[in-house]
Amino acid sequence: MSESIDRLIKAFTRLPGIGPKTAQRLVLHLLQKDRRSAAELSSALAAALERVRNCERCRDLTDGPVCRICADPRRRNGLLCVVESPADVLAMENSGVFGGQYHVLMGHLSPIDGVGPEDLGLDALVRRIDGGDYSELILALNANVESDATAHYIHEILKDRRLAITRLAQGLPVGGELEYVDGGTLRHALLGRQRVPQ
Ligand SMILES: [Zn+2]
Repeated sequence: MSESIDRLIKAFTRLPGIGPKTAQRLVLHLLQKDRRSAAELSSALAAALERVRNCERCRDLTDGPVCRICADPRRRNGLLCVVESPADVLAMENSGVFGGQYHVLMGHLSPIDGVGPEDLGLDALVRRIDGGDYSELILALNANVESDATAHYIHEILKDRRLAITRLAQGLPVGGELEYVDGGTLRHALLGRQRVPQ
């Protein structure tokens, strides 16, 4: 069609969940029907690329040197939650049940991909715990083999510190029916079973 359009379509197809057809539809929409949104998208993306970086304390994505959560004195309640990605921070925040601070790994240990402890900022995490007043470290990692290994590693390097280390209970999804739950989830739910209060 045109070199510029081809280049734009190719750029869109590199995004997760966008195939060639969707990319083509989006590009034609932006260029033909909604050039104002296209201009806003372009300037917002340029501004974000220029400004967004990792928070100096928790590594989450933020505009300034320190993110809003780390800068908020009300979030200093002794709880530190380790998550794998900025999307996980959003999920935790949306749940509305956690009022502490985060450490964002930006991945998990993966020897095959060359991701080691230093890539996850674990030395900074240890320094943060040694220099802060934390009573509990919550490991809110995903439920898969590599994330389990990561949680185990973090537990190993921090188990002698004076703080409780906990993991999210893994179990049945709220509203889920037993027969539709996959075997791994059911296994976790069974292994993590708790005594029914008397
Ligand atoms: Zn932060």
